[in-house]
Amino acid sequence: MSQNLLNRKKTRAIFLKDLKIGNYAPISVQSMIKVDSRHKQSTVSQIKRLESAGCEIIRISIPDEEALCNLETYIKTANAPIVADIHFNYKLAIESIKRGVHGVRINPGNIGDKLKVKEIIKAAKDFNTVIRIGVNAGSLEKDILNRYGLSSEALVESALRWINFFEDEDFLNFKVSVKSSSVAVSYKAYLMLSEKTEAPLHLGITEAGFGEYGIVKSSVGIGGLLLQGIGDTIRVSLTGDPVREVNIGFHILKSLGLKEGVEVISCPTCSRVKIDVESLASKVWEEFKNTKSNIKIAVMGCEVNGPGEAKEADCGIAGGSKYSLIFKKGEIVKKVRNEEALSALKEVIGQLISQN
Ligand code: SF4
Repeated sequence: MSQNLLNRKKTRAIFLKDLKIGNYAPISVQSMIKVDSRHKQSTVSQIKRLESAGCEIIRISIPDEEALCNLETYIKTANAPIVADIHFNYKLAIESIKRGVHGVRINPGNIGDKLKVKEIIKAAKDFNTVIRIGVNAGSLEKDILNRYGLSSEALVESALRWINFFEDEDFLNFKVSVKSSSVAVSYKAYLMLSEKTEAPLHLGITEAGFGEYGIVKSSVGIGGLLLQGIGDTIRVSLTGDPVREVNIGFHILKSLGLKEGVEVISCPTCSRVKIDVESLASKVWEEFKNTKSNIKIAVMGCEVNGPGEAKEADCGIAGGSKYSLIFKKGEIVKKVRNEEALSALKEVIGQLISQN
């Protein structure tokens, strides 16, 4: 599968531990630890859960010395790169860097003064640490807010100010984000910024919300930008379990052909439906969701439109009153009793995986 499918914009490559970001590297999915990072045990267990879910970058807030003392344990626990999220206190950023963190995320605007930001840059240079310039609508500089108001232009102006500052310090090992809780404001800001910098961009809609609404906001914002070829890493910010953020992140990438793996498509069902499409589709997904092969599986509720509507799938099932049709590469290969439908479909999927 081509990562240039959506004409991805070329950005500068940086490395977080071994993970390449930018310059057409696969788009990586990030999430954040949501338990108190001063509590070692709960943080370590959430790191492990995120890694099992496939999270590729793990960010941890380091609010004070106590959390800082645990950082080395967190770095050792994870295979994925660890990013320390620091606000206000430049010393915590420098100490995190010295303790071997792979990246720090700062909003330079709230670090205090430029000399302190310079100190962070110097430490990052010494230890080859990535910095994310995380500009956020909630904490923009006063002069910029006075000039532009809370807008995309303000986010971009702030980001460019710091990009220039970092580049003047001969430091290019950074990525940038311009997040807002408004999809439209973030979207326009990223579009404008990507025209003006080659730095890799981290995408997200901040404080997107909870539940279905939060998922929709992130999907529209992040998905829209990815369709424009913009974005090198993503984070779906959702209230609740961070594993869900990772799952949604991968779904967004997969829906755009930017991530390999099994895709299950299923019909919405209607009055013609003959089988329990929802249960069958979710069983197939649970069974094959970690398979790396690029296979599209269709679960269709009836045989009237089923096989025809699912032609683009590699294999699938079309339900009937008593018997269902199993098809592969557009051809019907089996007619089976509905009770045997799942196992017959799994058999065909297994054949395709072994040929893949
Ligand atoms: S495949 Fe059949 S059941 Fe599903 S939406 Fe189409 S017509 Fe309705």
